Amino acid sequence: MVHLGSISDKIELNNGVQIPWFGLGVWQSKEGREVEHAVEAALQTGYRLIDTAAVYGNEEGVGRAVKESGIGRGEIFITTKVWNTDQGYDSTLRAFEASRRRLGLDVVDLYLVHWPVAGKYKDTYRALERLYRDGQVRAIGVSNFQAHHLEDLLQTCEVVPAVNQVEFHPLLTQRQLRAYCDKSNIKLQAWSPLMQGNLDVTLLNELAEKYFKTPAQIVLRWDLQHGVLTIPKSVKAERIKENADIFDFELTETEMASIDELDRHHRFGADPDNFNF
Ligand code: NDP
Repeated sequence: MVHLGSISDKIELNNGVQIPWFGLGVWQSKEGREVEHAVEAALQTGYRLIDTAAVYGNEEGVGRAVKESGIGRGEIFITTKVWNTDQGYDSTLRAFEASRRRLGLDVVDLYLVHWPVAGKYKDTYRALERLYRDGQVRAIGVSNFQAHHLEDLLQTCEVVPAVNQVEFHPLLTQRQLRAYCDKSNIKLQAWSPLMQGNLDVTLLNELAEKYFKTPAQIVLRWDLQHGVLTIPKSVKAERIKENADIFDFELTETEMASIDELDRHHRFGADPDNFNF
């Protein structure tokens, strides 16, 4: 079990780059004041990782809020992703340049292939390898890759993905994929860790009562103790604080196992083996 002490704790990726365990997701945070306020609240709370994507349409707001925070660029870790319609080698290089410009950054910390688009993700990933070698990104990885996608990619890639960002929460515990990523030295990062707000689960409520925490905090603590990086989203300052207040308690092994048993292979998002966008 992983023992973590504070929001600023980091872990080393397979290329030596340090990534914060915990960060803010900004999917569905509106471009402009909404996303800027969320990022500002997160940075003030001590978050040091922001997860965006070209398709979220808010890279400019993220970039502005980061700049205006006055926090040194080296202290903040920014992830963005290449969208499906931009996949392919040349188009990915162009999409990256557009993302980087919108973010207002010289170097992006982590660039991900957003979804495993059939027939394209290998070319897309080759473009990421080029960006990595050119020093334009500090680490590269994938998102929504199942074990078979990774197996396929690992046969030809030259740089092992540092991260696989996937849907992960108590109803979808991804046991096999986690084992595969562990074995392959790829860090799993949880999207929709809060089940998109569907947190009214008896066991989570009981544990919340026991620890004087909320169900959201129980779930996020469970992520970290499993060694899974996590990026909860909120646009509300009080929830942004609440979600980060998880470093002063520890779930027991038995409690971890009982949350694991909630697994129903239930997805709130799309299935990586059957998506149409
Ligand atoms: P989350 O599981 O983080 O849940 C977000 C929802 O929960 C929002 O409706 C939010 O509302 C609400 N919420 C936040 N905090 C609390 C709380 N403490 N108590 C109750 N409700 C709460 O969902 P996301 O799908 O946004 O996933 C997180 C991030 O993962 C995304 O923002 C994105 O960065 C990334 N992601 C990546 C994907 C990929 O394909 N790679 C796909 C989906 C997400 P409010 O904002 O009003 O507080």
